[in-house]
Amino acid sequence: MSNDTGVERTLILLKPDAVARGLVGRIVARFEDCLLKVVASKMVWMDATLTRRHYFDLEERFGPKVYAAMAEFMQSGPVLAVVFEGVEAVACARKLVGATYPDQAQPGTIRGDFAHMSQAYANEHGIAVANLVHASGNVDEAAHEISVWFAKDEIIEYRSATAPFGQ
Ligand code: ADP
Repeated sequence: MSNDTGVERTLILLKPDAVARGLVGRIVARFEDCLLKVVASKMVWMDATLTRRHYFDLEERFGPKVYAAMAEFMQSGPVLAVVFEGVEAVACARKLVGATYPDQAQPGTIRGDFAHMSQAYANEHGIAVANLVHASGNVDEAAHEISVWFAKDEIIEYRSATAPFGQ
């Protein structure tokens, strides 16, 4: 979602490694600290269908081995799905999350601070890159992903106390 005020919504998934490690509060706080507002949330244990719907182009992009490893990882425990809202929320969330491969993610980003796995290590061991979070890549992707994860009435509109400072 985006409108002429620049306010967008983005989908964040706290992946099974983040939930299993007890990092939910600390990771959600990163987004809230930046004044992104939670407008929807649910915990889900993904199945094969939801994995395919969410990562619909992953197999095409990376091949069947990476897809299989990701599917196993994403279904290894519950994930927390959160929709955040804010001005240019999509790009803002990507900035907070950091580069895909934690060894390349900058300190101060979620992936850079809480993991260090490289793509080479994951490929060598046939495992997924456990990088804690998914964040929508662009505004169109965000709209699609939010519709995969949430019904319209599960997204709550309200005014936050910090609205005068940017949502
Ligand atoms: P991002 O999540 O940063 O948008 P991508 O869409 O390129 O990155 O990849 C989706 C997810 O697939 C990554 O977050 C990561 O968990 C996993 N992944 C990407 N590349 C590999 C790889 N070579 N081996 C295993 N898992 C990978």
